[in-house]
Amino acid sequence: MTKIFEEDLNVGFGTRAIHAGQRPDLMSGAIMTPIYTTSTYVQEGLGDNKGYEYARGKNPTREALERNVAALEGATYGFAFSSGMGCLDSMMKLFKSGDHVVCGENVYGGTFRLFDRILQHFGLEFTFVDTRDAQKVEDACKPNTKLILIETPTNPLIRLTDLKAVGEIAKRRNAIFIVDNTFATPFFQRPLEYGADIVFHSTTKYLNGHSDMIGGICVTKNDEIAERLQFIANAAGAVPGPFDSWLALRGTKTLHLRMPRHDSNGRAIAKWLAERLGDERVIYPGLESHPQHQLAKCQMKGFGGMISVEMGTKEKANEVLKRFKVFSLAESLGGVESLISHPASMTHASVPIERRAQLGITEGLIRLSCGVEEIDDLLADVEQAFSVA
Ligand code: PLP
Repeated sequence: MTKIFEEDLNVGFGTRAIHAGQRPDLMSGAIMTPIYTTSTYVQEGLGDNKGYEYARGKNPTREALERNVAALEGATYGFAFSSGMGCLDSMMKLFKSGDHVVCGENVYGGTFRLFDRILQHFGLEFTFVDTRDAQKVEDACKPNTKLILIETPTNPLIRLTDLKAVGEIAKRRNAIFIVDNTFATPFFQRPLEYGADIVFHSTTKYLNGHSDMIGGICVTKNDEIAERLQFIANAAGAVPGPFDSWLALRGTKTLHLRMPRHDSNGRAIAKWLAERLGDERVIYPGLESHPQHQLAKCQMKGFGGMISVEMGTKEKANEVLKRFKVFSLAESLGGVESLISHPASMTHASVPIERRAQLGITEGLIRLSCGVEEIDDLLADVEQAFSVA
């Protein structure tokens, strides 16, 4: 099991981001963690090895990433996977047929697809609820509820869940509480401090931050859960390669530098959009008009770079999307470069149309991932693109 170096918790976030989980290479002193491209490790004799046997189970580059992110989230153990979805699929192996799951109704489209199209055929039962209201989470719980899983803020409607309130429900119900912290990152929000049992990320997004790999990671403080996750990671094998682990690890070194810029760019663009289009069409937790602005201020240290805007129709959305020059039209988010997307036909296309309509993921909704470019250039791009709106 990959366990943090305890002393890494004695330093501040930025120092952890750069150093946690990494020590100069014992053989050469290399300051950067080497990319250990090996599938196996030589053993001196039967049962006599350096702690490494086969790379599905353990790889030093991967371990450095696991320790690093675990330290950033204030966890004890970390488990890296080959994608965010691979991470979620592996975590779901903690549960068995007959178990009931309460899941946020607005989660990443791929999360809904995994549950609705695959895992429910294995006997897991799902109830999707609006987790903005903790009472609805409580009401959805049954005697066989073993998991409460939420995303906050959500993709793409930027809705929040009260982590403390839901953490208490999970505890009372003896259910595992998993939080997808991809949008906020540990720089802005640390769900373990509010009662989450496991926090997970698509490292593809802000943690890597450079749009050059796909990966996932989950972290926990719970010894028993960690032991089971280690078993699953090795047994099911959805682990990342060393190069992708290294890219993610390089990304986290600047997380504390990138996030304030994503946040300040996000605030400025959301403000401009709200003034220009009206508060009701712009969804950003940093706007006072966001219905959960107060909750955002309580459980998050910043609001991030994700903004959604309602354009009314797909045609109007397309007209604006096509005009962007600095923002690129693409799936994904959280990279240094600004992206714009159309959730209904891209990230959430796998959510049935009626369900999308019911949630508010309309054909006119567009989602901006504000990167870390110069704000003047981003605002000028937004201004010229929305001039047709
Ligand atoms: N969770 C969230 C909030 C996401 O936005 C995504 C992907 O967009 C995922 C999980 C899945 O991650 P991956 O694409 O790395 O499999």
